Amino acid sequence: MLIDSHAHLDLKDFQKDLDEVLERAIQEGLSHIITIGIDLESSRKALKLAHQYEFIFSSIGFHPHDADKMDADQLNQLSRMASDPKVVGWGEIGLDFFKNFSPREKQVDAFNQQLDLAVEHDLPVIIHNRDAHQETYETLRKRKDKGARGVIHCFSGDYDLAMRFMDMGYYISIPGTVTYSKASNIQDVAARIPLERMLVETDAPFLAPVPKRGKRNEPAFVIHTAKKIAELRGMDFEEVARQTSENTRKLFGI
Ligand SMILES: [Zn+2]
Repeated sequence: MLIDSHAHLDLKDFQKDLDEVLERAIQEGLSHIITIGIDLESSRKALKLAHQYEFIFSSIGFHPHDADKMDADQLNQLSRMASDPKVVGWGEIGLDFFKNFSPREKQVDAFNQQLDLAVEHDLPVIIHNRDAHQETYETLRKRKDKGARGVIHCFSGDYDLAMRFMDMGYYISIPGTVTYSKASNIQDVAARIPLERMLVETDAPFLAPVPKRGKRNEPAFVIHTAKKIAELRGMDFEEVARQTSENTRKLFGI
């Protein structure tokens, strides 16, 4: 049993062969996939997939890259979708000060507004954080007492930062980059954080793990990530798969 806690199945990369992609995921033992919204249209498509396939759940939200496209009307539409039983999280939301595809003020504004809505709808948040560690941490800390909870997706910080997020109750999601030979930071995090706070993800179609690196990523490949984590921790793959699945179900109420 294994869950891919973060994939983008609505993207055109999967248009031609989604059924085969999902078949391979099931063959590798995946029990669920959470497909992630990045704007209104993508959130709609994600939810549609979740309605089509019993083992798929969806999130809704505006990615920081798309923060400048977000307006009040679109937020209202997302809010209406939030009560759908197959919507299990709000995201991915956050800050990306590496690419800065949207102006920083817009990113901060979209992040804050969506955090408030997630709390209002009692949904866990899926956090994207790139080169904005301190700002992301501070923003979440301000909402700690309001009941904000969730996961730091595709974690890219060091062990100390992971511990600070975990101290606020957040989960840390380990992506396929943990299999890359030079990824010593994320390998250190994957080896040392409590397994009870860890999720695994593909972020498919991006960031395929070794031995699929350079190819289109897909949910079935999360098995390589979980195997690498087991190797780094010196434990059985089955234990990593079981515990990360349990964590994912608990966080998202699956
Ligand atoms: Zn993503």
